[in-house]
Parts: sequence; C-alpha cells; structure tokens
Amino acid sequence: MATPAQARVDLAAIRHNVALLKERAGGAELMGAVKADAYGHGLVPCSEAVLEGGATRLGTAFIREALALREGGVTAPILSWLITPDEPIDAALEQGVELSAADERLLGEIAAAARRTGRTAKLHLEADTGMSRGGCPLAAWPGLLARALELRAEGVIEIIGLWSHFACADIPGHPSIEQQLEAFETALKLAEQAGAAGSHVIRHIANSAATVTLPGARYDLVRPGIAMYGLSPIPELGDFGLRPAMTLTARIGLVKRVPEGSGVSYAHLYTTDRETTLGLVPLGYADGILRHATGRAEVLAGGRRRLVAGRVCMDQFMIDMGDDPLAAGDEVVLFGPGDGGEPTVQEWADTLGTITHEIVTRIGSRVPRIHEHKGSR
Ligand SMILES: *Cc1c(COP(=O)(O)O)cnc(C)c1O
Repeated sequence: MATPAQARVDLAAIRHNVALLKERAGGAELMGAVKADAYGHGLVPCSEAVLEGGATRLGTAFIREALALREGGVTAPILSWLITPDEPIDAALEQGVELSAADERLLGEIAAAARRTGRTAKLHLEADTGMSRGGCPLAAWPGLLARALELRAEGVIEIIGLWSHFACADIPGHPSIEQQLEAFETALKLAEQAGAAGSHVIRHIANSAATVTLPGARYDLVRPGIAMYGLSPIPELGDFGLRPAMTLTARIGLVKRVPEGSGVSYAHLYTTDRETTLGLVPLGYADGILRHATGRAEVLAGGRRRLVAGRVCMDQFMIDMGDDPLAAGDEVVLFGPGDGGEPTVQEWADTLGTITHEIVTRIGSRVPRIHEHKGSR
C-alpha cells in the first residue's frame, strides 16, 4: 500500500555503525540502547541489526519495551533501567529481562516478584555519580549494597552489573566527566569491599559520546544509542565515520498555481511574492515535524532545497516550488544521509535548536518504517 510518507531505515548502516563503535570500544562488550522504538527507527528489526553488528546485549528504558523485544523473538540479554512502581516485574523475570535498581524500595519489589515467580532476578545496581537523575547517591550506596547482598544470600537476586550514566559526556573536557569517573571508581571500590563486585560483574557507564571520546570510560561494556543510528553524539567533532540510517520522505499530495500575494497556511506567516506553484507535503506536527520548523527547515524536492512555507499544520505543510514542474506524487525528502543534497537530521536539529535524538524519536506512528538491507540471521 502506498503511504503519504515513509521513513526508510537502512539496516546495513546500523550494522556498520555498531561494528565501528565496537571497534572504538576496544575489548568491551556493547549494549545497544534501543529504547523509544530504537530511537524511532523500529524496535525489532533495528535490534536484530544491532546484534548482527556486534552488540551482545540490548538496553531499554521500560520493561514493556523489553517484553516487546521478547515477543518479537529477540533472545539476547536485555536490561531495562527505568522501573517505576507497578511495572510488570513478574513478566520481566519470567522473560529473563535484567533489571536495574537504585533504591531499597525497588529492590524489595523485585525480591517479592522473584519469590512469587521462583525466578532469580539479575540486577544491575545503578550509582548516581553526579547526574542527579536515576541512580543511588553515593551516601546511600553502602546501604543499597548491604540490602542487595542480603537478598543475594536469600537466593532471590544475582548482582550482575554495576553502572552509572554521564551528564556531560557530549561536552568534551567538561569538569564533571572526571568527577563522575572518580565517583564511579569510589562506587566500584565500595561494592568490591562489600563483596558485591568481582570478575562476573559488568561495569558500565559510557553512552555514545563517551564511547567515541573516553577510552577510560569503557570498563567492561559500552552502552551507545544515538551513534548506532548514524547520528553524531558530538556534532562539533564530526561524524566519526557514522552513517545516518533514517531517510524521511513524503509524496507531494497536491500542486497548485497561486497568484502573487497569496497568504499560505494558518496565520498567513508566508506570503507568495509572485505567481508561483505551491506543493502540499502530507506530514505535520502529529508526525513529528515540529511546528517550530515553520519558515526555518528545508526539504529537497525536484533536486532543490525548499523552505517549509508557512505554518506546519497537524497533518501537512506547504512548500513554494516557484515555476518548477513538480507534480502530485513526486517525492520530497525531509532528511537523509545527505548524499543526494537532502538535509540531514543534524541539519534539522541545528535549525530547530535541538538534538538529533529528539528529531528521530518524535517521528509519529502514522509514518511506516520501511527496513532495507535486512541481514541474513
Ligand atoms: C539513552 C541512554 C543511553 C544511550 O545514550 P546515547 O546518548 O544515545 O548514546 C545509554 N544509557 C542510558 C542509561 C540511557 O538512558
């Protein structure tokens, strides 16, 4: 079925990016962050490509995302790190999903689920080394370790990971990076002294930015997300050889000739300065084309860049095509790798004052993801 718009996802690019990151990670294992529908690229097909590229583990924020991977037939180890009250912990244990905990309340909830299901919970304990988001503050860390060791002695949990997350890894040289690494060392030492560390316990802290710039942050495993999809974690430092995986296209829905002085779209923020041809692009803010793109972002149509003309609506926006002979059904490229002169996701992010993560994760569910270059697994 032809659709008004589609996001093509190049799985070969994802395999290439993961292999490149794996090389950058030295001997460390790679856990691919596939939360938020693999950053909007499609959960199961992308996770398979991530594993084919050399990842040995997957990471999601919520348990539901991990369960969707299991339903999709993915058997690799998966860690879910954002567990809030009343999440389906029983199902996670039954499906062998590894869980993160950062306080004794959640440890208790996980232990109860382990007793109910008869499954030993595989836990990664998260330390807050200075981001002040998830994680256990170092002051409370010894207490968390002690409680975890009691539960381990009872046989309801296993401690298989110790981890943390950087606040500023994408700002090279930021003083918090060294401070967080020092705090992580302290957390690891305390775990060792308590008897919660050891060679079987995986230590991890590196996101994409740390994976490509901080060899000292690799530890046993790196946890990249954005870079796997080919988007630079530190755009100021270049593309690191990554290949963007997503190309967002639409087909022009309507073409019409209008006179000079025509006000275009809501609030008439754009007015034609001569007789011209307008094209309707069937993507709007409900599909993740931010309203803020009005008059700022560009698309490629008929071999030329065109500005989003007038306000982005819920389902559509207009482009001004001048006298170019474009027709309904012709392709418009919003962004892609950039090889054909189309804007990149990075360009959209820069234009809109945001990061690439936000552009790709917001592409809505009305836009089908078309996965190309599937592997042979
Ligand atoms: C999202 C996330 C990652 C990946 O971050 P990127 O910046 O996309 O590489 C890694 N770890 C955790 C805990 C995350 O939430």
